Amino acid sequence: MKEKKSLNVVYDKDLETLLKNIGIFDDICEKKKKCKFCKTEITIENLHSLFPESDDIKIVCDNPTCIKKLSEYLNDKKL
Ligand SMILES: [Zn+2]
Repeated sequence: MKEKKSLNVVYDKDLETLLKNIGIFDDICEKKKKCKFCKTEITIENLHSLFPESDDIKIVCDNPTCIKKLSEYLNDKKL
């Protein structure tokens, strides 16, 4: 059983508003943002989560491997 989207609580308008608020919505639309771990181009569809790091916003795609890396990474950093 796959619960791919279960961790992603922001969709559609909420996500769009959030991305606009932090100023990366245009970057996402123009595919300028890449997954922190696998370097896949991030789109609205495959965006899993994002977090701030050293004055930048890091984005992670919804690849299960990246989601796992993200949780390990955040644990390491105590974020
Ligand atoms: Zn990825």
